[in-house]
Amino acid sequence: MAVADPIARLVKELAKLPGIGEKTAQRLAFHILKAGPGYAGDLAAAVTGVVRDVRLCSTCQTLTDQDPCAICRDPDRDARTICVVEGVPDLLAVERTHEFRGRYHVLHGALSPLDGVGPSDLKIRELLVRLEREPADEIVVATNPDVEGEATALYLTKLLKPMGLKVTRIAQGVPMGGDLEYADQVTLARALAGRREL
Ligand SMILES: [Zn+2]
Repeated sequence: MAVADPIARLVKELAKLPGIGEKTAQRLAFHILKAGPGYAGDLAAAVTGVVRDVRLCSTCQTLTDQDPCAICRDPDRDARTICVVEGVPDLLAVERTHEFRGRYHVLHGALSPLDGVGPSDLKIRELLVRLEREPADEIVVATNPDVEGEATALYLTKLLKPMGLKVTRIAQGVPMGGDLEYADQVTLARALAGRREL
C-alpha cells in the first residue's frame, strides 16, 4: 500500500527513533494524523523546543534548560560529594533512590578503546576543571558494571586519587554487565550505601 508522501516522510523520521520499527512508526504516524492539528502542533513545538532550550549544565554537564541546573543550584545538596555517572538516565536512576544528597558529574559515555572512545571524548576535563574551582572530598564512581564502566572507574581512580580525593565505587548490587538505568531502586540504593573505596 502506497502512502502519501508526507506520511511516508513522517514514518521515515519516526523509524529513526530507538526501539521504533517500521510498523510502530506507521502506527504513530497514523495516530498523529488522526489526533489533528492541535496535537501535531504541540508535538512539533515540543520537539523543536527540546533542541533549542536544553543544553549542558556548565558545572555537572547534565541536560538542563537552566544553567547551572537545579541540582547544582540546590544549597541543600552536598557539593563535596560528587557522583560520577555515564549518562543522564543514570543520574535520574540514582535520584530515584532518594539515597544520594550530593551532586553529580555526567561523563556522557564510558571509555571504550574498541569503539574509539577515549578520555577526551568524555567530560573528564570538565570534571578536573570543576574540582579545581570547587574542591570535593569524595568522588562516587557510579559507572555501569560492565567492561567500559569498570575501565572508566579505573581511569578516574588513577587520575583522582593522587589529587587527595577519596574515590569510591558503588557496590556490586547492580548485576555485572547490567545497566544502572534499569536497576531497581532498592538494588541501586543498596549499591550506593555499600560503596567501597578504590
Ligand atoms: Zn548541574
